[in-house]
Amino acid sequence: MRIEFLPAYNGDAIFITYVYGNATVNILIDGGTRQTYQTKGKKNTIISGPLKLLVEGIRQRKEKIDLLILTHIDDDHIGGILKWFEIDEDALGLIGEVWFNSGKTIAGYLNEPEVKIPELPLVPQDTTNTGVNQGVTFEKLIREAQIWDEVVVVQGQCLDFKGSIFKILSPSRPGLKELHDKWFREASDSMTSVATDYDQSLEHYLAGLVSDPDGSIHNGSSIAFIWVYNKRNYLFLADAHADTLINGFKIFEYDKKNPVPAEAVKLSHHGSNRNISLELLEMIDTDQFVVTTNGNKHGHPDKKGLAKILKSKTNPLIRFNYPNRIDDIFTAEDRKFIEFRTNSAVDGIVIEE
Ligand SMILES: [Zn+2]
Repeated sequence: MRIEFLPAYNGDAIFITYVYGNATVNILIDGGTRQTYQTKGKKNTIISGPLKLLVEGIRQRKEKIDLLILTHIDDDHIGGILKWFEIDEDALGLIGEVWFNSGKTIAGYLNEPEVKIPELPLVPQDTTNTGVNQGVTFEKLIREAQIWDEVVVVQGQCLDFKGSIFKILSPSRPGLKELHDKWFREASDSMTSVATDYDQSLEHYLAGLVSDPDGSIHNGSSIAFIWVYNKRNYLFLADAHADTLINGFKIFEYDKKNPVPAEAVKLSHHGSNRNISLELLEMIDTDQFVVTTNGNKHGHPDKKGLAKILKSKTNPLIRFNYPNRIDDIFTAEDRKFIEFRTNSAVDGIVIEE
């Protein structure tokens, strides 16, 4: 079994592969930003991104992406998939099944009248591309390809998939209701500041940790889960809210006294302080944390959030799928003040068992 955290710019793209019976099972969680699939270099040369290379490899091996999970609709999670669908005519044929909560399926699940919930256009409106796919939505494509059963994925479910189990922590039903009600009332996804908080020492942050919950509705709709493989737990927290995750753990009978043992945790929301709480950390028994971002756009991860990890765990390992962040965040003084380990890799991090 191998989990790969692709370098997906400021987004998430996570690839899990393992053997079940005598077949390979491939699971892709999110697709990162649009550049994660393809980008342009000098003189308009086309450069394949890590997602495209992954897809090409799967195709060459005559395998499929057996399960594609789209945690939520923010561009840093779904952009790469939209770009893939836009460019690659055979993309849908390579996907076995999709888990995705769309505005429409959420409305149906809540028995609410269908409201004007934004669908995801394949080509964003701000592009000059007037290709054939314009006006075609992501939902329409996956529905027509019959790879999406339109069943909402929600907290408390225990979903079996080819020899592994997904225990769904987020979104919650109230979270979805809130999402549904507020979708149009509030401005689009609340953006966090571009500035980092690396100007202060760990000592400073450790002295006064406060909670400052994430209020983003999109993030609150994130599909987050405990993935159980070979009796071991791996936590994929998407951009979920800390409070929702805490309630999710309680449903699966984990608490402070009986924390969920985990091999590794993909931190929620790229290590944003607003999505990490001490109460949440108390419910997780692990020493391996994964941060997925190049730090652009939102200034993630937050040093304050990482300080919470250092406060509640002994000598944890914090892993980064972009190496550039580590020395920006931690000073030599910080490292003297408290013991912790960091590592990173240029081509994304891998966890293997
Ligand atoms: Zn995100």
